[in-house]
Amino acid sequence: MCSAPLESTEFPAAPDRIQVEAHRNGADVKPYGRGLTADQDEGVLLVERCLQLAEAAVLRSARAQIEHGARAIIVCDPAANTVYLSPRQMRAGADTFERYVLGPNCRVCKFLEDAGLDLIFHNCGELLTEMVRQFAVELRPAVLSLGSSRKLWEDAAVVPKDIVLYGNLPTKTFYSDSAMPLMEVQRRTEELVAPMRECGHPHILGSECDVLHVPEAAATIREKVRVMLRI
Ligand SMILES: [Zn+2]
Repeated sequence: MCSAPLESTEFPAAPDRIQVEAHRNGADVKPYGRGLTADQDEGVLLVERCLQLAEAAVLRSARAQIEHGARAIIVCDPAANTVYLSPRQMRAGADTFERYVLGPNCRVCKFLEDAGLDLIFHNCGELLTEMVRQFAVELRPAVLSLGSSRKLWEDAAVVPKDIVLYGNLPTKTFYSDSAMPLMEVQRRTEELVAPMRECGHPHILGSECDVLHVPEAAATIREKVRVMLRI
């Protein structure tokens, strides 16, 4: 079960190590994500309000899908990545990942669990292995779908065996024969399938995210999907 905070209004302020260090070095840094609460900072308040609205929209959608017989729901949170969440800040103790990613997702996860639904969790952003581990052990999705930058056979080491890994061929670039030639699709597929079989982790071979549709490249995209699924 989730160990991240479940109440969005009661996040404790973490020791502000980064800010103190930056101040000592004479740097002018913004305090976002350094343990300040919404009561203390307008920027944090804005982020938390936006997240609350987003969470309400997600729960409303989930409720409607459950009413219509859904048995599993896919939650996609690719913005929870190392572009928006600084690995340096996280290593130094910032709690942004817990506050803004695990917290809201844990509440959604609990809602689905209480309703008896499976969670399929998707994140095709650039991730730290620790993020992958926490998505797995905190959210406990039935299926974890990751982007093509991840080596799934390595991630398998931090993902419990009862969570199916899904992915992760680079389908966003299938439209381009220069960026992703057919032979490269074949090579990447073989490179993925062999170690996944070897490590024995439950795995569904598939896309990293959407199979990006580009009308004028429809034929080459279809051919690459065919090659990907043939193996
Ligand atoms: Zn995606």
